[in-house]
Amino acid sequence: MAKMDFLGEELDALKEKKLYRPLRVLEGEQKSRVVINGKSVITLSSNNYLGLTTHPKLRGAAKEAIDKYGVGSGSVRTIAGTMAIHEELEDKLAGFKHTEAALVLQSGFTANMGVIGSITDEGDMIISDELNHASIIDGIRLSKASRKVYPHKDMAGLKKALEESKGARRILIITDGVFSMDGDIAPLPAIVELAEKYGAITMVDDAHSSGVLGRNGRGSVDHFSLHGRVDIQVGTLSKALGALGGYVAGSRNLRDLLIHKARPFLFSTSHPPSVAATCIAALDVLQEEPQLVERLWDNARYFKEGLKKLGFNTGASETPITPVIAGSGALAMRLSDRLFAEGVFAQGIGYPTVPENKSRVRTIVTASHTKDELDFCLNAFEKVGKELGII
Ligand SMILES: *Cc1c(COP(=O)(O)O)cnc(C)c1O
Repeated sequence: MAKMDFLGEELDALKEKKLYRPLRVLEGEQKSRVVINGKSVITLSSNNYLGLTTHPKLRGAAKEAIDKYGVGSGSVRTIAGTMAIHEELEDKLAGFKHTEAALVLQSGFTANMGVIGSITDEGDMIISDELNHASIIDGIRLSKASRKVYPHKDMAGLKKALEESKGARRILIITDGVFSMDGDIAPLPAIVELAEKYGAITMVDDAHSSGVLGRNGRGSVDHFSLHGRVDIQVGTLSKALGALGGYVAGSRNLRDLLIHKARPFLFSTSHPPSVAATCIAALDVLQEEPQLVERLWDNARYFKEGLKKLGFNTGASETPITPVIAGSGALAMRLSDRLFAEGVFAQGIGYPTVPENKSRVRTIVTASHTKDELDFCLNAFEKVGKELGII
C-alpha cells in the first residue's frame, strides 16, 4: 500500500548512511562464548557482568517459582498483580542498597520514565549530564519541568546550571553512575556536595554499576560511601543481575508516591513471579559469592592493560566497559566486522551514539571470561588493529 511506502524509504535511507543493522541472533545461552548466526565467538558485548544469566541458582529459582506460582502475574501491580514474591524482592533490594524502601518496575527504562515524571512538574528544574542514558533523556522529555544539560562530568557546568536554577520550585540532578559508552564513573561526591549546597535532589542511575561497583556490587553510592546522601538510586536487574527489571531505591515516601504516580507501574503488567524469584536469587548470589565481582575486576584490569599495551586508545574507562576508539565510524565498523571474522564479537558504535571521530568498538568483559579467552581476544585485536592501521 502506498501509504506505507515511507517504511521502505526510511530503511533505504538508513542503508545509504550505513546505519542499517540486522539483528544478531544468539542460538544458545548468553555466556562468554556464544553462537551468533551459526558462528561460535567470544562475546565482549553483553552486560552479563557476573555470568548470572546461566547461574544454576538463578535457573533453579526460576523453575521453582514457575512450579509454585505459574508463569504470569495476571495484572498490573496496582490492581491484582502484586504477589508476595514481588514485595519479597523489594524488601531484599532495600536491604542490599541500605535504603528504607525499593520499588521494582518492568525495566530500567521504565524505572527512569516512572520516577522522573512522578517527582517533577511545571516550575521544577531537571539538570542532567550530557551523556546520560536515553531512558533518562526520554523520562525528562515526558516531564513538564524545565531542563538543563551540563557538559559531561563538568562540575563547573553543574554549578552554573544550579546557579541559574535558583527560581525553580524543585531541582533534580540526574547522572548515570557508570557511563555506558565510555565506562567512566560519575563524580558522585562532588555532585552530592553541590546538590546539598543548593538544596537539589540527587538521582543516580546505576544500570552499569549494580553488581559492578561497591561492596558485593551494591553500586555507586556504596562505592563512594555516600549512603543517605543520594536521594534516589535507579538501576536495572537485567545487566549484572542477569534477569529483567528496573528498581528505584530510596525513602518509603518515594516508594509510596511512585506506587500512585509512576505510569509504567500503574499501567503495565508486573513481572512473572519467576522473574522476581530469579532476581532474589541474584541478590543472594551477590552476597554469597563476592568472588564473582572480584573476578570481574581482575578480568577488566587484565584486558584493559592488554589493550593499552598493544597501543589502543581506551579513552577514559575506569570500569569493565572499555571502549576501543578507532576514529571514523567506517573504521570502527570495519574493526568490529574483522574481529567477528576472527571469532570475537565486539559491537561497533558510531554517530549518533558517540561523536563521529570517536567511533569505537565497545568491549565488556565479564567474570566468566577465562584468561585464555581474554588472550584469544587480545590476539585478535592485535592482528586486526595492525591490519587496519589502528595500532
Ligand atoms: C541499560 C540501561 C538502562 C535500561 O535498563 P533496562 O533494564 O535494560 O531497561 C537504563 N539506564 C542505563 C544507564 C542503562 O545503561
